[in-house]
Amino acid sequence: MTYRLFVHIIFLMMPFVSVNAQLLSEKNNFTRQDTLRGSITPERSWWDLTYYHLDIKINPDDKYISGKNTIQYKVLENKNVMQIDLQHPLKIKKVLQNNEELIVKHDGNAHFITLKSNQTVGSLQNIEVYYEGHPKEAVNAPWDGGFSWKKDKNGNHFVATSCQGLGASVWWPNKDHMYDEVDSMLISVNVPKNLVEVSNGRLRKIEEFTDTKTYHWYVANPINNYGVNVNIGDYVHFSEIYDGKNGNLDMDYYVLRDNLKKAKEHFKDAPKMMKAFEHWFGPYPFYKDGFKLVEVPYLGMEHQSSVTYGNNYMKGYLGNDLSGTGWGLKFDFIIIHESGHEWFANNITYKDIADMWIHESFTAYSENLFLDYYYGKKASADYVIGTRNGIANDRPIIGFYNVNNEGSGDMYYKGANMLHTLRQLIEDDEKWRHILRGLNSTFYHQTVTTQQIENYLSKESGIDLTAFFNQYLRTIKIPALEYKIENKQLKYRWTNSVGNFDMPIQVTINEKEQWLFPKADWKTMPLNSNATTLTIDPDFYVYVKKL
Ligand SMILES: [Zn+2]
Repeated sequence: MTYRLFVHIIFLMMPFVSVNAQLLSEKNNFTRQDTLRGSITPERSWWDLTYYHLDIKINPDDKYISGKNTIQYKVLENKNVMQIDLQHPLKIKKVLQNNEELIVKHDGNAHFITLKSNQTVGSLQNIEVYYEGHPKEAVNAPWDGGFSWKKDKNGNHFVATSCQGLGASVWWPNKDHMYDEVDSMLISVNVPKNLVEVSNGRLRKIEEFTDTKTYHWYVANPINNYGVNVNIGDYVHFSEIYDGKNGNLDMDYYVLRDNLKKAKEHFKDAPKMMKAFEHWFGPYPFYKDGFKLVEVPYLGMEHQSSVTYGNNYMKGYLGNDLSGTGWGLKFDFIIIHESGHEWFANNITYKDIADMWIHESFTAYSENLFLDYYYGKKASADYVIGTRNGIANDRPIIGFYNVNNEGSGDMYYKGANMLHTLRQLIEDDEKWRHILRGLNSTFYHQTVTTQQIENYLSKESGIDLTAFFNQYLRTIKIPALEYKIENKQLKYRWTNSVGNFDMPIQVTINEKEQWLFPKADWKTMPLNSNATTLTIDPDFYVYVKKL
């Protein structure tokens, strides 16, 4: 998801105003609905998603949708009550299995369906969920998402969905938990004839009717729920073939008619992005589905293989440099950030949104790797260090598990700085690149937990990173290197740190670079004199305190 700039500005302007906590909607009281939405309930765990066919009609004049989702699944355990999610005010009209209507018990946004036929372990089964209604309108897409029903300058409908966090069940019925990705999906959308509809994957066919058209988009790869999207507008299309790591990659662009000329120029950042990220992260993970940029009436989102774009054809983040260094204006923030998510979010996906840092920390970090590729290591370091001004340290990066709760917005730039610090510890950029690529091949098309990522990074780096991740992901404390110089001795230790925190740090003492290995207890190092200057390498995200 896109970094939410207003939080950043508020923190810069009003650091001591207590309203911040409310604005960040910190939540500690969770309801039964949160548990139904956020946990792997018994009514979810017994079946494994294999295929969706979402087949809907969208009427922008009435802001109305209707249709069905056919859900194919493999039976893992012989049970007969299934949870499907669909959010109010949309209504399930009926549910069928083998053409027989089933009984549905509603519990808020969770719907419990009693199946009649025997659910033989290992068998593939289908249910059809019919639904309709006026879906929730997006208040502030993509953060407070739903349907954005907008118009372009020429008065044409310009419609798009966004639903990370909120959940895909805000606009279509599905198993709305991230642990289980569907293996493939067909998205069929009927729209008024004068409009074009763009979803994920490849356009299989267009069916023409008297006043409408149905677009059929096929996704050949596993896809997470919030990645599925519908975009409708007076689109025009252009494309190119990118000579990538895994062969020819189709890169397709859908933009509003009036923007074609500037898009052709501005979207040159897309193949540049592909080149840098294939270098750092390995092959684009969805060659079968191609890559698309699709213009939308909101800022942007990492919809898989149809990354959505609304950055007004400007460099930076709506023309702003999040780092304050100038480097942030060298690229279109949305093209780089949202496409970075193809590796971290769409290829490697969190099982629980509490672990959303896996998406956002690596992707925020990808912004400076893009700079690193084209402008060098110094530019990249300046950028990521510059983004520290947006860190709030208000709440831990990891949220609460099993209740659909995301952690602090610090998952973006505190997370990026944590990874930049880790790069220093690894002290070998080729090894670091190998690790980033290894993450993408090891967890290819998988959903994962923080623990899996931590274990992988510890193993591959050869460093026990347990305390490191406990410090940066699970507390709001930034480690402080405390030191004093007396009697020709340097005394130093870590404070404000978790137990066992013993991160080495690179410092310069009297113009000589060296590593220190501080712990919570004081350590001592002999010096030639008391007239000593000590500076820490600014690449490390720590504080320093001279006593
Ligand atoms: Zn993001």
